[in-house]
Amino acid sequence: MNTSRLFIVSNRLPITIITDDQKFKVQPSSGGLVSAMKSYLAGTSENKHNNFSETFWVGMPCCRPAVWSEAAQGIHESKFTYLPVFYNAKAYECYYNGFSNSTLWPLFHYFPSFAEYNTEHYNYYIQANEAFADTMIRHLRPNDVVWIHDYHLLPLARLLRQAMPELTIGFFLHIPFPSYEIVRLLPRSWREELLYGMLGADLIGFHTMDYATHFLQCIQMVLGLEHNMHIIQHENRLIKADVFPISIDFTLFDNAFDDAKVSVQRAGLQDKFKQQRIIFSVDRLDYTKGVSNRLKAYELFLQNNPEYREKVVFILVVVPSREYITKYAERKKMIDEMISNINSKIGTIHWQPVIYQYNSLNFEEMVALYTSCDIALITPLRDGMNLVAKEFVASRKDQQGVLVLSEMAGAARELTTALIINPNDEKEVSDKILQAMEMPSGEQSKRLEPMRKRIADYDVLTWAADFLNQLNAIKVKQQEFQ
Ligand code: UDP
Repeated sequence: MNTSRLFIVSNRLPITIITDDQKFKVQPSSGGLVSAMKSYLAGTSENKHNNFSETFWVGMPCCRPAVWSEAAQGIHESKFTYLPVFYNAKAYECYYNGFSNSTLWPLFHYFPSFAEYNTEHYNYYIQANEAFADTMIRHLRPNDVVWIHDYHLLPLARLLRQAMPELTIGFFLHIPFPSYEIVRLLPRSWREELLYGMLGADLIGFHTMDYATHFLQCIQMVLGLEHNMHIIQHENRLIKADVFPISIDFTLFDNAFDDAKVSVQRAGLQDKFKQQRIIFSVDRLDYTKGVSNRLKAYELFLQNNPEYREKVVFILVVVPSREYITKYAERKKMIDEMISNINSKIGTIHWQPVIYQYNSLNFEEMVALYTSCDIALITPLRDGMNLVAKEFVASRKDQQGVLVLSEMAGAARELTTALIINPNDEKEVSDKILQAMEMPSGEQSKRLEPMRKRIADYDVLTWAADFLNQLNAIKVKQQEFQ
């Protein structure tokens, strides 16, 4: 057992600054990672090798220091000590909307034609990582453990390693790691700096074996570094690249089926749509999610299977995201037009084929939809994991409903008994919608059962424990090696 401290690092702090009675306050938010870390820290997970004396969360609060100072006074109870990293608004724009989301995001999701190569953005991205490193170095001690999250912070591990060589550092990438042919589109000095940045960590985690393999191939092709059994020897250290498919809180979604509020909302939906079958999807407005392909496939399904007209509705929920980036704003317009075309062309006075909401859902609304739909239609063109697919499966305690899932989502590697489709093949998606509509109840549960077991066995708590345990293990191996 060690008694070091844990530093979790992500672009944003898991909080929102709210104005309450003309005062600024910090309101903690509860994403999947936050609740996983809370359960991990509270629990006595089997083979848990770390017993952290304190846990810090490092990230940008996205407010001025004076506002933060006032807001932070109101934090009375939290599992985490928040460590804010301040960065001015113009610099943040170039680091976040610029290099992170207009270069790395499209490239790593195989949209190279959407990627911008802007040196100013890149420089601000490096500076933002230096701002993280400067803030952290003021607080870190050599035996602390650092867990860095995601593509906004690729260079950070190396910056910390250079300042404090003894640190234990893990890095986890939440998006795909693409093939070498994509990475080489980045200017040479950038790709080298980013890959060396990741190699500052002791353990580098990916969602799937494909992503880990791509990374290992990249460091060979770009940096000339060899690897053996996922272990790289670099600057007299052993570094491991391995697979940790992120998951969800299975019990939370499984139990939600019987929750009173969810049951009332489900009954409402079932009553409203008693004459129709329901297809459901929910995603952020992002070109990677394949919403336009999905709409085309649904239209084809209605054209090819006219007997289903008036007998089915597609409830499409799109959550606003990154609206300041042109590519995202264009997408919104395109989706609005496609929906209105389908509804005016195929709909009737009594029936609207697509029911569209451009706004987020709360937890109860989401589970009510997961558990009243006949088909969850999830068709990303590329997705690191796709948690919605896992949440749908975990919510279906009744073992009913069909998951139609894109082979381009990391989740398809685990949820293999779903109806797997290629999102570019409209005919295949349309055929699978028909197959799902006609699937006997027995087959639905036979397909859901192994997927539910997989998520229950490897939930988000197990994921966090697995990563932190392997980080500990590679550090032990390094000490034997030296
Ligand atoms: N989500 C939500 N409200 C919504 C839509 C989505 O809370 O209205 C949550 C959803 O439950 C899931 C996450 O947002 O946990 C989306 O994760 P996913 O991996 O599917 O996609 P991402 O947005 O991270 O690319």
